[in-house]
Amino acid sequence: MKRFENTEVAFRINSDRELERAYLLFRMISRPSLVKVGTSLVKFGLALHLPIKGLIRATVFDHFCGGESIQDCEPIMKKMHENGVSSILDYSIEGQDNEKDFVHAEEVAVRTIPFARSHMEIPFTVFKPTGMARFDLLAKVQAKEELNPREKEEWERIKKRFDRVAKEAYDHNLPLMIDAEETWIQDICDELVIDLMRRYNKEKVIIYNTLQMYRHDRIAHLEWQIKDAREKGYHVGLKIVRGAYMEKERERSAEKGYPDPIQPNKAATDRDFDLASKMIVDNIDIMSYCCGTHNEESADFLANYMIEKGLKKDDPRIYFSQLYGMSDHISYNLADEGFNVVKYLPYGPVRKVMPYLFRRAEENTSVEGQTGRELTLITKERKRRKAAKA
Ligand SMILES: Cc1cc2nc3c(=O)[nH]c(=O)nc-3n(C[C@H](O)[C@H](O)[C@H](O)COP(=O)(O)OP(=O)(O)OC[C@H]3O[C@@H](n4cnc5c(N)ncnc54)[C@H](O)[C@@H]3O)c2cc1C
Repeated sequence: MKRFENTEVAFRINSDRELERAYLLFRMISRPSLVKVGTSLVKFGLALHLPIKGLIRATVFDHFCGGESIQDCEPIMKKMHENGVSSILDYSIEGQDNEKDFVHAEEVAVRTIPFARSHMEIPFTVFKPTGMARFDLLAKVQAKEELNPREKEEWERIKKRFDRVAKEAYDHNLPLMIDAEETWIQDICDELVIDLMRRYNKEKVIIYNTLQMYRHDRIAHLEWQIKDAREKGYHVGLKIVRGAYMEKERERSAEKGYPDPIQPNKAATDRDFDLASKMIVDNIDIMSYCCGTHNEESADFLANYMIEKGLKKDDPRIYFSQLYGMSDHISYNLADEGFNVVKYLPYGPVRKVMPYLFRRAEENTSVEGQTGRELTLITKERKRRKAAKA
């Protein structure tokens, strides 16, 4: 697509070495069998405490993550910002299931807020519900199952935890996004986040919920959300994504015999994604929007629609967002045109970030065309640089 074709802009923060690493990495992960074997070997190596951290860092980790700590991320954040792209620090550890981990994630989230406030490169913070709450308990609350006294206390702690992080964001005037996950915990997470929006978004958007447009019920939810905000007098922040758990959703609904929550096909997801963009822009007087996608058509659609509606390209209520290490051609070309762009910058100890990295490798293998597109762009830029030096 013309808007995203310029590879010089797309890769201008990457040195030749980094470009070469990206080239080798995407060649490797374009082969499903290699990803499968590699993933098993890494899991095995980590379980046996083999010294493979250096290898992981030099390959996938450094491509998809900012570092092991917030401080590690600073040089990357700075470099991105000098090229018009902001960062969302994402403490990307997954599979947490004990109170100690949840308390730690809460502390990290709370500490990140004043840090972000003092860094103009970071316009938002983010957290993932299951980083701070036990998955099975969320599922139990959503299913309206009876909780025992200990679980009741745990549920109260979860609500307090969400509120503490939201209040911290509000007190620092720093927007906070909350990621979306599986449908069987998402309704209860939506309830918590909508309650936070009603309380903290009275004058402007501080709290953002996330809607996954691979769900066929999300346009109706968006209509309801806008109506509720207008009636009750609050602002709505939304990150719109397609959704990351499609196979899992389909498998579970088939296994348990309830209707599939996922759209009948990709075209329906694409249609609803762009419709959501349109609905949000049409209601921008009470909304703020983060458009989280690597899809060129959807990014192009929103950019054109903003222009058509006479919005400024850098309207502070609208951001485009991609993940660090992916779709730089969208991020940097949009930023070059003057749009607001922010990239999720994952960080955390190598061992704990591995589930995130396995998902990135698998996603890049399974998302049709994504790896092919990254490789084509990297190859084009390698050729351009060689020719420029000749
Ligand atoms: C900044 C950012 C934040 C994100 N945050 C979240 C989050 O909080 N929660 C979350 O779940 N995901 C999140 N994601 C991941 C996101 O949901 C997608 O998995 C990913 O971005 C790929 O979708 P795409 O829009 O980039 O583009 P595409 O590559 O065009 O779309 C791929 C997506 O389309 C959908 N799809 C594919 N085939 C079908 C089909 N047959 N029927 C119906 N739908 C189909 C799936 O959702 C698939 O992931 C985030 C992504 C970004 C960039």
